[in-house]
Amino acid sequence: MKLGTKCVQEGYTPGNGEPRQIPIIQSTTFKYDTSEDMGKLFDLEASGYFYTRLQNPTNDHVAAKIAALEGGTAAMLTSSGQAASFFSLFNICECGSHIVASSSIYGGTFNLIDVTMRKMGIEATFVSPDCTEEELEAAFRENTRAVFGETLANPALTVLDIEKFAAAAKRHGVPLIVDNTFPTPVNCRPIEWGANIVTHSTTKYMDGHGVAVGGAIVDAGTFDWMAHADKYPGLCTPDESYHGIVYAEKFGMGGAFITKATAQLMRDFGSIQSPQNAFYLNLGLESLHVRMPRHVENGLAVAKFLESRPEVKAVRYPGLESDPYYALAKKYMPNGTCGVVSFELAGGRKAAEKFMAALRLAAIETHVADARTCCLNPATSTHRQMTDEQLAAAGIPAGMIRMSCGLEDKDDLIADLAQALEAVK
Ligand SMILES: *Cc1c(COP(=O)(O)O)cnc(C)c1O
Repeated sequence: MKLGTKCVQEGYTPGNGEPRQIPIIQSTTFKYDTSEDMGKLFDLEASGYFYTRLQNPTNDHVAAKIAALEGGTAAMLTSSGQAASFFSLFNICECGSHIVASSSIYGGTFNLIDVTMRKMGIEATFVSPDCTEEELEAAFRENTRAVFGETLANPALTVLDIEKFAAAAKRHGVPLIVDNTFPTPVNCRPIEWGANIVTHSTTKYMDGHGVAVGGAIVDAGTFDWMAHADKYPGLCTPDESYHGIVYAEKFGMGGAFITKATAQLMRDFGSIQSPQNAFYLNLGLESLHVRMPRHVENGLAVAKFLESRPEVKAVRYPGLESDPYYALAKKYMPNGTCGVVSFELAGGRKAAEKFMAALRLAAIETHVADARTCCLNPATSTHRQMTDEQLAAAGIPAGMIRMSCGLEDKDDLIADLAQALEAVK
């Protein structure tokens, strides 16, 4: 099946007389005839459901669809994108481990790795996504257990050279984990370029309507844990909390990672997505392949318009030929990137304030990637405690605006921008 068909059909096939849409199994628990039946589930001897903190059929149908879209062997849903990022790393890292991460990642993920995971004794080295192979090589240590990057970074819009990072991870016998939130599998499938694990904040384009916070983890099934058993004792030695199961032996390359993350991390941390939210997520997935091209069309039209205006000092959109990431974007995302554009007004903070106040259609929100267009000026909102000098040093000039182009008609978006730019003059 082609990707568009998978968006609509994968993950759930009703039997004769069964509901056409994925049923929302709004139940915390599941009933068994005998204790022995249930015991088999607790021993991971049989597959089935016993408690929604670990698994729920609604979630599993939706996760199976996302696995199919990314080309993976197994997937799980989490309560948020943050939970997906954390589980993807903590499933294979422990106190004393080390992570190599791209420095151009979502702020929440940077904080997770650089602050919270350090408190857990997990170290990290950040490298520029544009680093040379030698610089990347130098970031690895004896105790490195994972490489992490973002296909198309939020909000920097840098493009990860997935093949470069995958090759380095492979040389060091560790998996590459890629957050593929912005392009979605419609525009990029990192597994095809060598990523071993893919994560998502489904809150963004996958949901697409600003309805439900959620996350997902997909395993490509391509990393041979047993070949690196000394590094991954959690997957390759007996888990005494499950009667001595060795995940990599029992569930193989295709199933070990997600089974362990479900059986241990969901059990202990409980960051499950509610079945109701999984249902909403699936509604978004059913039209993902129809929506993404429109987000790209609007993003590119807006970026080109902004580039033509004298009030705009700079535009960043990897689909623009003038963008430093144009070539990488063409390679990894030939059908386009997404609807997020960032630009800097020549008039700095004052111009940004006037511009934001003049917008009529684009709403002021700290959100991206839904059907309605929104804008954010970090200097006067999320980063308002910083001076213009501090902002410039952080690469977020006071006149910078991040715009997430929704699904409206592009002529109306451009008209709104044009009248707001007039107000800045
Ligand atoms: C939003 C976002 C996250 C965090 O996801 P939440 O669902 O908000 O927890 C992680 N990565 C990227 C790229 C994001 O855009």
